[in-house]
Amino acid sequence: MFQVQQWLRPNIAALQAYSSARSEFSGQGQIFLDANENAFGSPLAQAFNRYPDPLQKALKAQLAQLKGVQTDQIFLGNGSDEAIDLLLRAGCTPGQDNIICLPPTYGMYKVQAQINGVEVINVALDGEFQPQVAEIIAAANAHTKILFLCSPNNPTGNCFHPEKIQTLLKALPQVLVVVDEAYIDYAQQASYLQQLDQYPNLLVLQTLSKAWGLAALRLGMAFAQAELIAVLNKIKYPYNINAATHALVLQALQNGSQWVADKVAQTLAQRAILAECLAQLPFVEKVYPSDANFLLVKTTDAPGLYRYLLNQGVVVRNRDQEPGCKGCLRITIGQESEDEALIQILQGANW
Ligand SMILES: *Cc1c(COP(=O)(O)O)cnc(C)c1O
Repeated sequence: MFQVQQWLRPNIAALQAYSSARSEFSGQGQIFLDANENAFGSPLAQAFNRYPDPLQKALKAQLAQLKGVQTDQIFLGNGSDEAIDLLLRAGCTPGQDNIICLPPTYGMYKVQAQINGVEVINVALDGEFQPQVAEIIAAANAHTKILFLCSPNNPTGNCFHPEKIQTLLKALPQVLVVVDEAYIDYAQQASYLQQLDQYPNLLVLQTLSKAWGLAALRLGMAFAQAELIAVLNKIKYPYNINAATHALVLQALQNGSQWVADKVAQTLAQRAILAECLAQLPFVEKVYPSDANFLLVKTTDAPGLYRYLLNQGVVVRNRDQEPGCKGCLRITIGQESEDEALIQILQGANW
């Protein structure tokens, strides 16, 4: 059984959080002379002189409704990347604990672990880009704190089989299983959000950077049992979500659901067209099935095609050096005109 207090680094379990001026106050203030803000306003049309709500209550109330979870099961970060970093710092003692990653996958898990001096155990995905469940369970040891599962996976685009994720959640009860659902809005499969109450060792990451089209505002979400979320709130920077992001995201959540649904549908339609056009090119060996807003494409010469496209002003991602991805480019689905331009340029390539 997953016990937050046992999972935490001892210094984090013992930590007395910083108490900011605004978090110490509760009640109905009229005159705020507690936080050394500028009482005269901002040199902008809109006033940003007051510190924002450190716990983002208004935003979380909206998100709880949208996602079907409790507000105390939500952590908001400066992108999902903040949540990844905080989880490593909360759970992993440098030089002692480890995490498990399943390459090829999102690079931030490993980089953040390395920044924090935490060992990374790699267990490669199988030929179908699925987790090797028995190997992962065998690789875990008493110092394994986090298993990162990215589903739909970046850069491969596929979802992991739900039975495999379930088996891992049950077989590794002391390990925090992070399911990164950055692309879940594009996927056929259901989110793991509704399983939070069933698995105390489950944490789900989502973001507004992809289907919600708000990458520049930097809002990532972590969902887990309330006790773990409280720890993340304790160790984050007090005012990690700025007021501009808070206000704009609130507006997007109130009015944006239909926009998101429309753009997801458009993206999926474009993805089907692009996949078909790419598959017909002589130097394309395989277009992998995708549950995300990008395609992984196996070619005869990824570095060459990458440079060729760059010369034509088209930037894609070269994933040639990732394990199991020899020859692969990762191509984000663009607008219709952008995808057409890409195909036209590729048709002109002499490969
Ligand atoms: C894009 C992406 C994210 C999003 O990160 P943000 O910091 O929220 O923008 C998270 N995980 C994966 C796998 C991604 O591809």
